[in-house]
Amino acid sequence: MSLKVLHAASECQPLAKTGGLADVVAALPAALTAVGVEARVCLPAYRGVKQQISDLAWVGGVNVLGQDFGVLEGSLPERGLKLWLIDCPHLYERPGDPYHDMHGRPWHDNPWRFGCFAQAVAQLARGCNGWKPDVVHLHDWQAALAAAWIEPLPGRPRLVFTIHNLAYQGLYSRDEFNALQVPGYLWHMHGVEFWGGFSFMKAGINLCDAITTVSPTYAREILTPEFGHSLDGALRDRRSLLHGIVNGIDAEAWNPATDLLLGSTYGNRNVVSGKNANKAALKEELGLAPGEEPLLIFIGRFAEQKGADLILAARGPLLELPLQLAVLGTGDRQLERQFGEWAEAQPGRVALRLRYDEGLAHRMTAAADLQLMPSRFEPCGLNQMYAQRYGTIPVVRRTGGLADTVTDATAESLADGSATGVHFQHADVGGVLHGVRRGLELLADKTLRARLRRTGMARDFSWTRSARQYEQLYTSLLNGGHT
Ligand code: ADP
Repeated sequence: MSLKVLHAASECQPLAKTGGLADVVAALPAALTAVGVEARVCLPAYRGVKQQISDLAWVGGVNVLGQDFGVLEGSLPERGLKLWLIDCPHLYERPGDPYHDMHGRPWHDNPWRFGCFAQAVAQLARGCNGWKPDVVHLHDWQAALAAAWIEPLPGRPRLVFTIHNLAYQGLYSRDEFNALQVPGYLWHMHGVEFWGGFSFMKAGINLCDAITTVSPTYAREILTPEFGHSLDGALRDRRSLLHGIVNGIDAEAWNPATDLLLGSTYGNRNVVSGKNANKAALKEELGLAPGEEPLLIFIGRFAEQKGADLILAARGPLLELPLQLAVLGTGDRQLERQFGEWAEAQPGRVALRLRYDEGLAHRMTAAADLQLMPSRFEPCGLNQMYAQRYGTIPVVRRTGGLADTVTDATAESLADGSATGVHFQHADVGGVLHGVRRGLELLADKTLRARLRRTGMARDFSWTRSARQYEQLYTSLLNGGHT
């Protein structure tokens, strides 16, 4: 009989998405199914979600704090994955995204909305419509509190908690703890109490059988005050249960040989001509001067985490190097303005697009020589994996998933053929310049460039690999160990 795993989360692509969590919650259960695990997803029935599922049926009800919620069963569009929706229109069928109203303000009753969702998940952990999970896998703080009610159940499923972003913790007050009728014995620092407040995240950390985060290096980093967002102490207490498993990428959508978003597709054999054709087209599209200069790109949110400000801080010395830059992103208004001024002052040399544009992200990744990621912290990161698949050399700060998925070009890794990119250490102007200069040196040596590209393009970043690691973790928990 196959292993049954229920994933509970506040987002799932394509039904509800504000970030990478949604991609993981769709892709991981699908990849688990492919390796023989029976995986399901449980999600609140937000506005518009029910209409997207053609085979939806009412399969049960749960009573949470005096409210009746419906449990609807159906299949996720495209992937066919089985899904349970928690139906409670007055809590979930609202305009805006899963957490905010139309004006971007968080809903005032978010602790109630996700606390009730967590209690519904806890009831489903006992089984519904003939399906009972062996493992309940909770994602981020919005689902974490389910552990408070599942953990004391006799014969309960094993509990796994994944931290996708430690910066968001679901911090509320004793009033909300009381209103949600969380078991009173959990009001202490090894339960859900956090400096006098109430932390949803701590239920995941303190009450689950295993904790995972999305890369091995980030799993080590969050044990330190620098990266721990005040939870490093709680995590250190539970470090023997903590695992880092790197996310996969959608290897079909991000394949340069079949990518319909590109003007010219290419593979390993015609990587030079393929990338040149894409580069010429992109230069025209973005108004960059034609020519041989290497193209450096940045794609991502303009946020403290991503270090886009470091590129601006290094703009003078960067332009002394023989390169052109293309930047795609949105976020901090001041950074948007400064990038705008820079691009205006450097026509033909610096191109900027301030929007979210999937197609352009693909075209830039195909056209680029170097991709810069100066992140201050990076739980996993995706762009560096896309870059390698597209024969683009990533230049990344040595942190989190960037450190784990890019192999720095050292004398040793160049000799044994494992190098795929460049690491730099410091999140400052000197660090960025050091990394970019090394990237340019590697590009200038055609033999090394070809070797790095070949190795990067052959890397396996598939979800299957990650799914196998999760499967091993589930199995070890069911066998009574903590791996
Ligand atoms: P995070 O989830 O922290 O923003 P990730 O690297 O894990 O960072 O995932 C973000 C994804 O969104 C990446 O694939 C990135 O390329 C993409 N992305 C971010 N900003 C843009 C943009 N403006 N246009 C297109 N894609 C973008």
